[in-house]
Amino acid sequence: MEYERVITMSNSSLVNCTVKSPNHSGARTHSIDRITPHCVVGQLSAESIGGCFDSSNVQASCNYGIGSDGRVVLCVDEANRSWCSSSNANDQRAVTIECASDMTHPYAMTDAVYEKLVALCVDICRRNGKTKLLWFGDKDKSLNYSPKSNEMILTVHRWFANKSCPGDWLYSRLGNLANRVTAQLGGSTTDSVQKPTKLDFTKSTSVI
Ligand SMILES: [Zn+2]
Repeated sequence: MEYERVITMSNSSLVNCTVKSPNHSGARTHSIDRITPHCVVGQLSAESIGGCFDSSNVQASCNYGIGSDGRVVLCVDEANRSWCSSSNANDQRAVTIECASDMTHPYAMTDAVYEKLVALCVDICRRNGKTKLLWFGDKDKSLNYSPKSNEMILTVHRWFANKSCPGDWLYSRLGNLANRVTAQLGGSTTDSVQKPTKLDFTKSTSVI
């Protein structure tokens, strides 16, 4: 595979603990150019998020989880395709991240989770040769977009299944997330649709 000659895939050095999941498809068939953050629906620890996916009975997994205190668990090696977003096409190319959240709308997350999500996205972009993280806020535009070699795209689970994931709390912050990550990578933020100061807390998009 072409991309494996360019970049050797690795796992994040931000990982605090490892709870490997048997639920994955092995090596990716597409290079990493997406990040898909999820809400795990529970203020769980990193270890407990790992425990959600450590049985083959579950038939689900994620690459990383972020516990409510900001600690990170590795569940599926970044080089492998996790079973997380109800989409083979997405998960072949996306790093998936389950984030501890409240159990009800808008599935709010702690500051520790959000700040670690920013740091983890920066790390994932850097190791995969990306200088920009983009959020278009539009399903068709995002899924039809061919990222340039230095670009990473944010996608969300609600585009692939009848779910509210990642919850409106995080969904309304994805423009902020993209711009903060891009700023830390040293890239221009002009391509992102949403500005970091504009958070829309009024728009409710879907229910579970
Ligand atoms: Zn999800």
